[in-house]
Amino acid sequence: MTEIKSNALVIGEKELGENDKLLTLLVERYGKVVAVAKGAKSVRNRHMASCQLFSYASFGLRKRGNLYYVTDTDLIESYYDIRTDITKLALASYMCDVINDVVQEGECEDEILKLSLNTFYAIAKNLKPLEFIRACFQLRIAVIAGFTPNFDGCVECGGSTSKFYYFDIVDGIIYCDSCKNKLFYASAENEFLERGLSKPIAIISESVLAAMQYVIGARRERFLSFNLEKDELSSFYSACEKFLLNQLERGFYSLGFYKSLI
Ligand SMILES: [Zn+2]
Repeated sequence: MTEIKSNALVIGEKELGENDKLLTLLVERYGKVVAVAKGAKSVRNRHMASCQLFSYASFGLRKRGNLYYVTDTDLIESYYDIRTDITKLALASYMCDVINDVVQEGECEDEILKLSLNTFYAIAKNLKPLEFIRACFQLRIAVIAGFTPNFDGCVECGGSTSKFYYFDIVDGIIYCDSCKNKLFYASAENEFLERGLSKPIAIISESVLAAMQYVIGARRERFLSFNLEKDELSSFYSACEKFLLNQLERGFYSLGFYKSLI
């Protein structure tokens, strides 16, 4: 493909020399593309507004040698309300790092693009608390990336009437209260050893489980449209974060920075 004309979200930017930028774009129908934006660091450059982190724009891209170059832009949404709030900016930066991690170059990832646009809109417009949006985004993107937890009842007995579940966030399975002893097979070599358990476990109530099932199954436009009791929120937030980070087997500097602000 030597020329691309499509909408794209800027999910990464690096300075390149005096005036240029190296952009990582999540392009509709094409997936992740790295492109040079000549002169985009200058405020006088006509592509400047489209070539910033979080901008969603129509891009014209042309391949020369091994690299794509930005030839044309038309800004659709700059998410100005994210840029003007340091906490929102830090959260959206972390999300871009996650998107970069889960999307492979050359793979079409339109579902992740649409999820990102919905999520950035929710952040910009304060549709829900930032931590709520972060939790839902993390679970939803994990599922799109192929890490779907199995919430069809307890993995041992099939039961689905427990008040609490023991969510094994490595294998993405749940154990009911009666079967939780199956988790106590701790081995000293296991790097995840925690509180006598062999793996990291999130203990979640049936309402948190229902919330997670909702986030996974809801239509994309509705994935944030639910409520959870206040005292259940921290357990929901923690389970969603732990699940994604364990599946990706990494942490993010940008997440630490965001957390230092809240
Ligand atoms: Zn069971």
